[in-house]
Amino acid sequence: MTREDAAALDEHDPLAPLAEEFHHPLDPAGRRAIYLCGHSLGLQPRAATACVEQELAAWRDRGVLGHHEGTRPWIRYHERFAGPLADLCGAMPTEVVAMNSLTVNLHLMLVSFFRPTPTRNRILIEQPAFPSDRYAVASQLAFHGLETQAHLVEVAPRPGEGCLRTEDLVAAIERNRERLALVLLPGVQYLTGQCLEVAPIVAAAHAAGARIGLDLAHAIGNTPLRLHDWNVDFAVWCSYKYLNGGPGAIGGCFVHERHAHRVDLPRFAGWWGHDPETRFAMPAKFVPIPGAQGWQLSNPPVLAAAPLLASLELFQRAGFQRLREKSLALTAFLRRSLDDTLPLERFEILTPREPAAHGCQISLRLRSGGRRAFERLLTAGVVADWREPDVLRLAPTPAYNSFRDVRQAVIALADAVRS
Ligand SMILES: *Cc1c(COP(=O)(O)O)cnc(C)c1O
Repeated sequence: MTREDAAALDEHDPLAPLAEEFHHPLDPAGRRAIYLCGHSLGLQPRAATACVEQELAAWRDRGVLGHHEGTRPWIRYHERFAGPLADLCGAMPTEVVAMNSLTVNLHLMLVSFFRPTPTRNRILIEQPAFPSDRYAVASQLAFHGLETQAHLVEVAPRPGEGCLRTEDLVAAIERNRERLALVLLPGVQYLTGQCLEVAPIVAAAHAAGARIGLDLAHAIGNTPLRLHDWNVDFAVWCSYKYLNGGPGAIGGCFVHERHAHRVDLPRFAGWWGHDPETRFAMPAKFVPIPGAQGWQLSNPPVLAAAPLLASLELFQRAGFQRLREKSLALTAFLRRSLDDTLPLERFEILTPREPAAHGCQISLRLRSGGRRAFERLLTAGVVADWREPDVLRLAPTPAYNSFRDVRQAVIALADAVRS
């Protein structure tokens, strides 16, 4: 892949100007770094400053009246996210809500959707699951007096393979069909970048009498989602990865419309989930808002949510379909460049090759000296991510990365593994 190949691809990229809507960190030499870390923390949209300053000004100038006055009254601030998030999720606006953080939302969903009985009390997850998710399900099992050892079913890739097979997940669900209460899986697996085939897994879970939830931390804003049609019971996500919402940004939650009016579902309630018509009458009895908003606890952290508005506006402007097309072109270019440039005996690509089975992220297993290579990359101005013991994760992100970025990163990586 020559410099000219990359330049030609950038020239024909209709989304190339979008990169200028973001702030880019500088490398140790003071040049714009090549940032391939959108799977950990997305870059800051330039418009984020104005969105935050507007709310600081509203607070400064109006005090409590900001709840009802100004450009974006806080009382309904969270509702601004529902439309754009629903578009990204393949959901109806009433099925999604921006609130809390991912792990908090996961616990709230498990309270409602993990209802173990003496015979049906197992949870199925993938291995290795993201630690926070595993802690969350293990602590929920313990909360119900259930031992992790006996009640957590973990499905790993086959020996010698890096990714999960749909048939293995389905078979594990069927093997546990009498005992399974809940399936919790990622939309995109954080370590390998594998995008799971959701529909057949949902069908298997429901046929077994279990509920199913998705962790979309690495999927939202990255891969196409059809949560409503896939019929998943719930989903949770954070907004600081591909959604560029900023560190610790407000997370989100999907609850399928089938459960919108289930007032019988136990939940941990708070006043923001209560019917807004009577919220300030402060009645003793909790009347949940139908849909995902009914799981809200508190009034939203407006200052921590404001940057997400700026980012979602960019998603809407660019169009997710176009972003996805560019993303597939970037990852294909990355694979070809790696194959051309890196000594084959030094690495293996963990991420599946088929377009439907991955998003922005390509995970490499480096056979030796990986950590040193990763550190050299950073010095050379390429921000990637290292997972012990041997995985380098590179995520060219269509909103702010170019084909040139990808080429430069691969050249720097080849230098780093050779030296
Ligand atoms: C990033 C990530 C999290 C982060 O959880 P927070 O509650 O936002 O800190 C959780 N689970 C997965 C799978 C992740 O990738």
